[in-house]
Amino acid sequence: MKAAYWYNNKDIRIEDVPTPAPGAKEMLVKVISCGICGSDIVEWYRLPRAPLVQGHEIGAEVCRVGSAIKKFKPGDRVFIAPKVPCLKCYYCLNGHYPQCSEIKERLPGGFAQYILVPEVLVKKGTYLLPESISYDQSTFIEPLACVVRAQRLAGIKKGHSVLVIGCGMSGLLHVKLARAKGCKVIVSDINKSKLEYAVKMGADLLPDAGNIAGELMAAGGKKADAVILCAAAQEALEQAWPSVDKGGVIVLFAVPAPDKEVVVPVNDFWMKEITVRTSYYCGPPDIAEAMKLIESGTIVVADLITHRLPLNDIARGFQLVADGSQSIKVIMKPNE
Ligand SMILES: [Zn+2]
Ligand SMILES: [Zn+2]
Repeated sequence: MKAAYWYNNKDIRIEDVPTPAPGAKEMLVKVISCGICGSDIVEWYRLPRAPLVQGHEIGAEVCRVGSAIKKFKPGDRVFIAPKVPCLKCYYCLNGHYPQCSEIKERLPGGFAQYILVPEVLVKKGTYLLPESISYDQSTFIEPLACVVRAQRLAGIKKGHSVLVIGCGMSGLLHVKLARAKGCKVIVSDINKSKLEYAVKMGADLLPDAGNIAGELMAAGGKKADAVILCAAAQEALEQAWPSVDKGGVIVLFAVPAPDKEVVVPVNDFWMKEITVRTSYYCGPPDIAEAMKLIESGTIVVADLITHRLPLNDIARGFQLVADGSQSIKVIMKPNE
């Protein structure tokens, strides 16, 4: 089978490797769709594990199941979470699933024709796709689950004004979810074509990405109750700090690279009771919620897909996501 080994964003090698055979408690799935995530192109984050086969937004068809598996059969359509928490440790019991100390196994990457699903993920990380969720739509389950979690942790609810800085794929999912909750959503991005997407989804626009706080005040006389940072540029973060209202929350959904020095205005935040909230990855309740939102049509995701590419074009796919000006969601189709 073919698998794409990522060394860095400019060096991705398609290699022929043996198709794995499942043991009694494992299964082999054929990858039908696998999205390229914004985090896949973040080199400081991914390089420590390189070379690796990336791809964690996976819609797949079950091919072969081990003799001990009763829950799934060949032909089943599934979404598989990239890793699963134990649900028993201190962190899991307190809802911090991404911090679970027991996670040992991850799903091999989906930028390959087939994946061997390890036992723990067959047991707790594999979800049957309902009829109404296509393979392409299933690639949004994991990113939407991360968005669901972030907005829940931040306490975002109906009536809040939400500012989303950065309108790539996850920024637009934040726009859609906040709109579905009944929030007023305002967006900012340096890329005009992304803003057009956000406006189509019902967001109000701030034309000058360099003066967000000033524009918020000019437009409505009030800053945002929640600011969600979905861009890694330090300039974007610096725009986030002054844009939050008293008592509000800043959600760091994306962060600048570790070599960037970030100064948090703590004195100002102390007096104004502002929360700085981080959110990393998602947990099982978020995945269930994301599946419900997609299945019910509450969150439409198909309109975010801009590219579908065969595995041989993976370098172009990474380029499209890294550049960001021509694409929103790029989906790899490893078996086409
Ligand atoms: Zn992702
Ligand atoms: Zn745990």
